[in-house]
Amino acid sequence: MHEKNEINGNGENRNILIYSDKTASFDLGADHPFKPSRAKQMMELLARYSLMYEKNQMVIPPEPITDEQLYLFHDPSYIELLKKAGSGDFTIDMLSAGLGTEDNPIVPGLADYCFSAAGGTIQGAIMLANNEARVVFNPLGGFHHAGPDHAEGFCYINDLAVAIEELTRRGKRVAYIDIDVHFGNGVRDAFASRNDVLCVSIHESGMSIYPWSGCVEYIGEGAGRGYTVNIPLMQGSDDGVFLYAFEAIVPPLIEQFKPDIVVSVIGADTHKDDLLGHLNLTSIGYERTIRIINRLSPRLLITGGGGYNLYKTAALWTLAWAIVCGLEPEDAYAGLIGGMMYGPEAHSGTLRDQPFIVSGHLKEQCTEYAQDMVAYLKRNLFPIHGLT
Ligand SMILES: [Zn+2]
Repeated sequence: MHEKNEINGNGENRNILIYSDKTASFDLGADHPFKPSRAKQMMELLARYSLMYEKNQMVIPPEPITDEQLYLFHDPSYIELLKKAGSGDFTIDMLSAGLGTEDNPIVPGLADYCFSAAGGTIQGAIMLANNEARVVFNPLGGFHHAGPDHAEGFCYINDLAVAIEELTRRGKRVAYIDIDVHFGNGVRDAFASRNDVLCVSIHESGMSIYPWSGCVEYIGEGAGRGYTVNIPLMQGSDDGVFLYAFEAIVPPLIEQFKPDIVVSVIGADTHKDDLLGHLNLTSIGYERTIRIINRLSPRLLITGGGGYNLYKTAALWTLAWAIVCGLEPEDAYAGLIGGMMYGPEAHSGTLRDQPFIVSGHLKEQCTEYAQDMVAYLKRNLFPIHGLT
């Protein structure tokens, strides 16, 4: 990756990866499923597959988010609690703010980690707003569950809500596309009554997974009615079902909305081998979805989000980075990292998966469910945007 002063590309075609070993080395605890180290694994794969040596690519470390930026979305009293928690000072009121729970433990260095991981997303948003890049990827960001006054779902700081607020204050029209397996409830709540942000989330139905919400019927309120788009899918849905729903709904809406910048959470927990999600995507569906998002985005801010099969997450993010940079990874080096097999042997030969197609009754149920969701949105939401 090139240093900043060596970059030849201009802002129209520059692709920026925001990363630091220090932030990626943070550990929420041995038993905690959220591993920032996935980003480090991705960096190793990018090097192995020669996906970081183009002149228009650069890697920069995240700058910590400032208090002023945090307050664009978060309550100052919550930020104070998070800072106190980060210095190891536990008080009982932290629990009611979601701090010190099993999902959101308090560990040494927590606040610094949160501020760096989130800071990268805001930094990326500002670079895009200033035309300094075409794509920015912060694999350490994407905390779509955090609320203004609380942590939840492994998310302490809602970097996405802050970044989108920052962009709209700069006069940008923002579309948010969340393909993480979990519904992006924190971001939805932030913009549900606004029509300058189009908020799209495709996710496993809240009937079977946290945060137990994200139903199709909720389409925003007040001026924002029609600008919240939820596409829940039944657990078990595969590439075909996911792509059917995504392609039917997302491209027409984004093309009609005409965003200046797309902000996306590309969580890899939709993968069939994920430890928390119950969808059945492979790299085939994931790649195609990333290609569509990339095509729809004049400028693109992508964040890592979830992904609890560590090797698969690193591999899918690697593919995503390759796609947004217009590169084609060649699977010549297998998964050999430092002379050791990297990940389960079955996965180590390639970044990509074999096709996996659900069949029988489950496939019928998943398909019918997705068809119902698509029909509902076409009937109730498309007309608000002048679409049929
Ligand atoms: Zn997730």
